[in-house]
Amino acid sequence: MIDRWPLFVFAAVMAAIPLIPGMPPFWIVLLDNIGLAALVAMGLVLLTGVGGLTSFGQAAFCGFGAYTTALLSTAYGVSPWLALPASLIVSGVAAVILGLITVRLSGHYLPLGTIAWGIGLYYLFSKLEFIGRNDGISNIPPLSIGGFRMLDPHSIYFVIWTAVLISAVLTMNLLDSRTGRAIRALRRGHIAAEAFGVQTPRAKLLVFIYAAVLAGLSGWLYAHFQRAVTPTPFSAHAGIEYLFIAVVGGAGYVWGGVLGAGIVVILKEILQSYLPYIFGGMAQLETTVFGILLVLLLQLAPSGAWPLLMSWWPFRARRKHPDTALTLPGRVRSPTEPAVLLQIENARKVFGGVIAVNDVSFDVQTREIVALIGPNGAGKSTTFNLITGVLTTTGGAISFLGKHVDNAPPQEIVKVGIARTFQHVKLVPDMTVLENVAIGAHLRGSSGAISSMLRLDRADEARLLAEATRQIERVGLGDQIDQLAGSLSLGQQRIVEIARALCVDPVLLLLDEPAAGLRHMEKQRLAALLRQLRDGGMSVLLVEHDMGFVMDLADRVVVLDFGTKIAEGTPQAIKTNPDVIKAYLGAEA
Ligand code: ADP
Ligand code: MG
Repeated sequence: MIDRWPLFVFAAVMAAIPLIPGMPPFWIVLLDNIGLAALVAMGLVLLTGVGGLTSFGQAAFCGFGAYTTALLSTAYGVSPWLALPASLIVSGVAAVILGLITVRLSGHYLPLGTIAWGIGLYYLFSKLEFIGRNDGISNIPPLSIGGFRMLDPHSIYFVIWTAVLISAVLTMNLLDSRTGRAIRALRRGHIAAEAFGVQTPRAKLLVFIYAAVLAGLSGWLYAHFQRAVTPTPFSAHAGIEYLFIAVVGGAGYVWGGVLGAGIVVILKEILQSYLPYIFGGMAQLETTVFGILLVLLLQLAPSGAWPLLMSWWPFRARRKHPDTALTLPGRVRSPTEPAVLLQIENARKVFGGVIAVNDVSFDVQTREIVALIGPNGAGKSTTFNLITGVLTTTGGAISFLGKHVDNAPPQEIVKVGIARTFQHVKLVPDMTVLENVAIGAHLRGSSGAISSMLRLDRADEARLLAEATRQIERVGLGDQIDQLAGSLSLGQQRIVEIARALCVDPVLLLLDEPAAGLRHMEKQRLAALLRQLRDGGMSVLLVEHDMGFVMDLADRVVVLDFGTKIAEGTPQAIKTNPDVIKAYLGAEA
């Protein structure tokens, strides 16, 4: 829950500005332009800063919004207000088409892809006959309410800034929700999010559409503000400038988009008006100075101006703690009778020339703690990845409660009740412990993007956060609940991952080196927790190098060496097995 009063103050100040007597119209035009850029930048914040999908082509979506309304209102006489949904839909549909192609690209290919369509669409706008080629469309009607025509920058100012404020609130609501957490997890890569049931391609497409619709809204406003459209403002060059705005303001923050728009638009204006006097009309120099200033600004505030500003802000938002009396219904019931839970038969995984897992077979029964041990590179983590669908098997079969699950996607594996942690911690460092853990309960909630934006998800959200709180308290991190996950020690972060996995309400818990980095007391607490989970009906499969911890805790031990199972048995039998001593335990001593 975020404190809302600063927003009301901001809204009141913005509403008062045009009413100040003697306010130069020039300033109002500047603020109009800031608002228009802020809308696009806000979408980029979600897309690039939060979702990790860098787009240089955002200006093209403004173009879709602007040209749609320009065409409808001039050629067909459609009222601008009726053209608004059309503008948003056209931008959104364009985003679906481009998004389906682009979001599949990874690494550097994605931003390159956005540059490609940024350039391509600009040429398209400037070549199409029916939208006026390079001349564009002019004589666009102004917005009007009743008989009042918004012809001057003062009147449309209110429409622009109302749009900015509403969009900011909707975006903040979205980010502070089940869907928002899934989006925010994207930046850490898709593996962790998918392990908890997030459909990452769908989440990426959602932010893509969201950002495009905001850009389309900006384009719609722009068309009725300028009353003419040409291709130039929608070029890849403009797209780069929007990205700059988001980065300068703070790409991870909704208000960073607004602040960045303010900084960049005003800076450009000042340079354009004063530099020619200083440098005696040497053309283009302002662009150079502009570039230098932006680079300096980024040196000063690498994550943008907004977080810098906020570090000076004296008021801290109070977060209301979730009511832990709220409960979520359980998910998969574990069998009450003893049974084979997980069965691995001749599982095989080959990476090029490396046989990482070589026809390994073992099983995990109900209410059992099984340890998977072996030297580094033995294939333990790969086995986990085969079970959880992160990797597909080269051969063999994996079944859970008698049902084949090999090669099912991670989102399906978690549904049958298998939850995991990662050897290399995969938390979102700039999300709180509570928010990270709540991702574990993703499948136990149902609210989507629209209901989150409109705050209709609060009951669902309260239950998810209550569940997350309970699991955090259960693993003993109640005091750290509001801290950023990245600020915890690595050992504690591993425990946060366990809480996140427990939010799945799993039948089988897979832990990859959970005790690494823990102190002695913390290890004992972890062992006690795992025993308690087993006694409560859960099974645990864990990888761990601390033999004291493993031998004390496990009911059964499976030993891998070079991808091959070399032994299996009770801790007592494993400790004295000559093969195991030779391959692994001997090396420890
Ligand atoms: P462990 O967890 O037991 O230390 P891993 O399962 O991580 O071992 O690795 C087993 C073997 O597979 C190692 O030789 C490792 O280099 C190789 N390996 C693991 N993942 C990949 C991958 N994605 N691509 C290529 N080789 C891999
Ligand atoms: Mg490993």
